[in-house]
Amino acid sequence: QLAGAGLAASSLGVAPAALAAAPAANAVVDRKVYLNFNECPLGPSPAALQAMSRGLPTTGRYRFELAGQLRELLASQLGVPAERLALYPGSSDPLNRAGHLFTSAEASVVVPDPTFEAVADVAAAHGAPVRKVPLAADFSHDVEAMAAADPRAGLIYVCNPNNPTGSVTPRARIEWLLAHKPANAVVLVDEAYIHYSEQPSVVDLAASRDDLIVLRTFSKLYGMAGLRLGAAVASPALLARLEQIGENPLPVPAMLAADASLRDSALVPTRKAANARIRQQTVEWLQARGFSCIPSESNCFMVDIKGDGKAFSQAMAAQGVVVGRSWPIWPQRVRVTVGTEAEMQQFRTAFTDVLKAGG
Ligand code: PMP
Repeated sequence: QLAGAGLAASSLGVAPAALAAAPAANAVVDRKVYLNFNECPLGPSPAALQAMSRGLPTTGRYRFELAGQLRELLASQLGVPAERLALYPGSSDPLNRAGHLFTSAEASVVVPDPTFEAVADVAAAHGAPVRKVPLAADFSHDVEAMAAADPRAGLIYVCNPNNPTGSVTPRARIEWLLAHKPANAVVLVDEAYIHYSEQPSVVDLAASRDDLIVLRTFSKLYGMAGLRLGAAVASPALLARLEQIGENPLPVPAMLAADASLRDSALVPTRKAANARIRQQTVEWLQARGFSCIPSESNCFMVDIKGDGKAFSQAMAAQGVVVGRSWPIWPQRVRVTVGTEAEMQQFRTAFTDVLKAGG
C-alpha cells in the first residue's frame, strides 16, 4: 500500500510491483536527494534484508529469546558484560528516558551548543534548566566549561562525534569531564556516529563506572533508522532506573537485521571508508570554492554558506536536494549529510545552480 506509506506511486518513477520485487538500497521515496537526517544512504545491508525477509513469519511473536541473543552478541562485540547492556527501540528511547529521569527543576541538563537537541528538549519540557555551553574553538566539547556549568547539574550530555558538526572530543577530554563533573551528575555519552570516527569509544568506561551511560544506535552506519534499534551501556543500577518508566519490546525485524549486521565483519570498515572518502571529496570541492567546513569525523558536516542558511536550504530543496538545517547559534552554517557519490554529485550541481542564482 504505497499511498498508505505516504509514497505517491506516480513520483516513484517505477511500477509498485517492481519496487516490491527489487527495493533499492534506502528505497527511493521520490526523486529528491535527502541529505537532511544523517541517515546512511545505503540502507540495511543485503544480509540484514535477507534475515528480515526470512524472519517475517515469526513477527507475530515478541521473540524475547532473540533479544537475549542480540544483547549477548552486541555486549561481546563491545567488550562489556551483558548485564551492563540494554537494548531499546532506537537510541532516542534511552535518551528521552535519561532526560526525564536525571533532570528536574532542581537538576539541570548541561549540553554543548550546538548539538542534537532531544535531551535538552525533554528536560526543558518538564521544567529543568538547560545550560548550553558553546563548543571550544576547535569544535570539541568545552569540557572545562561543561564541568563547571552548574554544581546542581543532574545530567551532562556529550555527543561524540557531535551532531550537527561532526566534530569530535578526544577520549582524554571525556575522562577529564568524568573526573571533574559535579559528583551527582550522570554523564550521557551519545555515540550514534562513533562508527564513522577515528576516536575510540568510551563504552569500556561504562563497564566500570556507575555515573556514565553510553548510547549506541543501528540507525546510522547500519542503515536501520526506520527499523528502530539502539542500546545503552551502563551500570545495572542505572539501567534499572531507565527501566522504571516502562519497558518496550523490540521490533523483531530490527533485531533480525541487527543480528545479521553485527555478524558481517566487513560492514563497518567498508561503510566507514566510503563515507570518509565521499565526505572528503565534497568538503574539498566546497573549500576550493571558498566555503569553509567544520572538520568532521561523521556522516555529516557543516558548511558556512556565507549567507542565510534557511534561504539556502530552501533554494537547494527547490533544486531537488534537501539539506539539513542551521542551528540558532550559527545561522550561516548548514548541516549536510554525506550521501552516495551520485547523490553528492547532485548536491554539487544544485549548489552551483543556487550560487549562480544568487541564492
Ligand atoms: N543521537 C544523535 C546524536 C542523533 O543524531 C540521533 C538521530 N538523529 C539520535 C541520537 C537518535 O537516533 P535513533 O533514535 O534513530 O537511534
